[in-house]
Amino acid sequence: MKLLIVEDETKIGEYLRQGLAEAGFMVDLTRNGLDGQHLAMTGHYDLLILDVMLPDVDGWRVLKSLRETGHQVPVLFLTARDSVDDRVKGLELGADDYLVKPFAFAELLARVRSLLRRGTASSTETTLKIADLELDLARRRLTRAGHRIHLTVKEFALLELLIRRQGEVLPRSLIASQVWDMNFDSDTNVIDVAIRRLRAKIDDGFDLKLIHTVRGMGYMLDSSGES
Ligand code: CA
Repeated sequence: MKLLIVEDETKIGEYLRQGLAEAGFMVDLTRNGLDGQHLAMTGHYDLLILDVMLPDVDGWRVLKSLRETGHQVPVLFLTARDSVDDRVKGLELGADDYLVKPFAFAELLARVRSLLRRGTASSTETTLKIADLELDLARRRLTRAGHRIHLTVKEFALLELLIRRQGEVLPRSLIASQVWDMNFDSDTNVIDVAIRRLRAKIDDGFDLKLIHTVRGMGYMLDSSGES
C-alpha cells in the first residue's frame, strides 16, 4: 500500500513518514501543494494525507482539483483548525475523513487503516494478477502457478508497481523514484540488479516470460508472450 503525505511542517511530515513506513507502508512526502497535486494525479497512491494549510496551493484546492479530474483516491485531511466550517468544507469537497492537529499517531494509523479497508472493500483489489502470477497485497504473498515465491520488501514493491501498470513501459527513473525513493542516477545499476533477481524468481522455469526489457527505455510486465 502506497501513501502520499502533503505536509509543509517538516517535523510533522517526517514523523508521519517514519511512523507509517515502520507500519509497513510505502510513503512519499512532499512539502508543497503543487507537487502534492501532481504526485497524487500521477503516482497511483492508495491514500493521501493532506494538510489544509500549505504555502502555495492549499489542501482544499488540491482536493478540489483531484476530484474535478476524476481521481477517487481516499483523502485524509489534517487540519489545525477545529471549526465546523472547515470540516464541512473538507467533506463537501470530497475528503473521506479528517483529523484535527495535534493528534496521536495511533489515531492517525487507525484512520488510515480504516480508510484503506473501505477502499479495498469497494474495489476488491487485494490481489493483483497477471497470467498465472498472483500478488496478494493484504497477506503480502506471491504465487506463480500456485507455487509460493518469496520476495524481499523491495522486490515486492517493484513487482507491485510493475503489475499495477502492466503493459506500460516503465522508465528506470520512474521505478527509482517510486520504489527506491531516489532520483535516478545512471551510474547505479540497482534497478537492473533488482529486475534480474525478480526475473529469476518469477520467470525462470516458465515458458511465458512476464518481465520484458525494452531497450533504451525501461521495463515492462506483459503477458502477451512477445518480447
Ligand atoms: Ca501546514
